[in-house]
Amino acid sequence: MTTKDINLYSPRGRVSESPRRPDSRPVLHRARLVVPITQPAIEDGAVVVADGVILDVGPFQQLRRQWLEAPARDHGETVLLPALVNGHVHLDLSGLAGQVQAQDSMAEWIRSLLTARERLSQIQLEQARLQSLASLHAFGTGIVGDIDSSATFTGEDSDGTLVVRTFVELFGLQTESLEAAMDRLPHPARKALANGQKNVSLAVHAPYTTSASLLREAKDWTRERARVVSVHAAESEEESLFLRTGKGPLRDLLEEGGMEPGRWQPPGCGAVTYLDRLGFLDSLSLCVHVVQVSEEEIQLLQRSRAGVCLCPRSNLFIGNGLPPVRQLLDAGVPCAIGTDSLASNADLNLFKEMTVLVDQCGIGPDVVLAMATFHGARNLGLTSHYGSLEKNKRWLAIRVAATDIESVIAAGCQGALEWLI
Ligand SMILES: [Zn+2]
Repeated sequence: MTTKDINLYSPRGRVSESPRRPDSRPVLHRARLVVPITQPAIEDGAVVVADGVILDVGPFQQLRRQWLEAPARDHGETVLLPALVNGHVHLDLSGLAGQVQAQDSMAEWIRSLLTARERLSQIQLEQARLQSLASLHAFGTGIVGDIDSSATFTGEDSDGTLVVRTFVELFGLQTESLEAAMDRLPHPARKALANGQKNVSLAVHAPYTTSASLLREAKDWTRERARVVSVHAAESEEESLFLRTGKGPLRDLLEEGGMEPGRWQPPGCGAVTYLDRLGFLDSLSLCVHVVQVSEEEIQLLQRSRAGVCLCPRSNLFIGNGLPPVRQLLDAGVPCAIGTDSLASNADLNLFKEMTVLVDQCGIGPDVVLAMATFHGARNLGLTSHYGSLEKNKRWLAIRVAATDIESVIAAGCQGALEWLI
């Protein structure tokens, strides 16, 4: 699929013409509230933009005086935000929407997922994936960390409002080398990795499905290339049990799949401790879920500067409970937010993910918005261009029909927003 095809399915409901060129003259974008994320929200604020790059951010009256020649676009009673970052999704599982039952067991949920996936054709999966891209856009997400083993869509769409970082996913509890794991990948994924495509990196599925040597080698591969590596970690009690004892429902599941868990030596500790022992954790590691962690493991994450991506609605769907968000934030662990796939979530609306963190975890909306923007970009290695409204960053922003930070998330849940490009 070419990147241009994305626009055929854009939520704007029309086939796009040639991509809109950013205005080369500076333009002053004014709104009731500008939320730069990396500095306090600005009432009656403005952003000066030219050629798709931010030149200045500040109070409207001040910028009006400094940029006398710049025409103004008044966005009225709205809130300007940087585009949202969905730190963890599996677009290639979108066809499973509504087909995998909520379970109280990780192993049962995976069984249900695998059965449902077998019933779908490649065409159905691809169509659902395109619908998901349109849905992400409609609800203000501009940057996506997508776990994928086919690497069929990478990069940006033609009008630059969707930036995808693809993580090619590896499995193999008995696979001892990265080379062997890569040999099993579909051709497009192998090609993208071999070509050194900057927007493609590796994900190892999880510590319970991947050998220690494969975890180490995948980390070495990404470290050498200064890229983020993603891993599902500490998602369920069943995972903790299996890592500590080699037993439980996940062992049964792996035996059914021929992964020979009996030949594998359990590390005898939690997932985060195990990853730390393997030298897997550093600032370019992205640990997804992080529900089953001890206080010591939170400190390990903090010391290693590893990033975390929380997917609270997926955790609730599978019956894993909510992650210790407050403790992670208090320790200074950079926490992004992801939806995970439609196999464990009702939709890909990141504002709804934020609602859970505000309502059920007691996190303030300003903190949650920073998680869904700046920390998401940080954990995908993209803060040089995205994640906040700051001088020299890309103008990838939305306006939400709200008047203050408290009402932004509720309005976003309803899709009351527009793109500013
Ligand atoms: Zn996932």
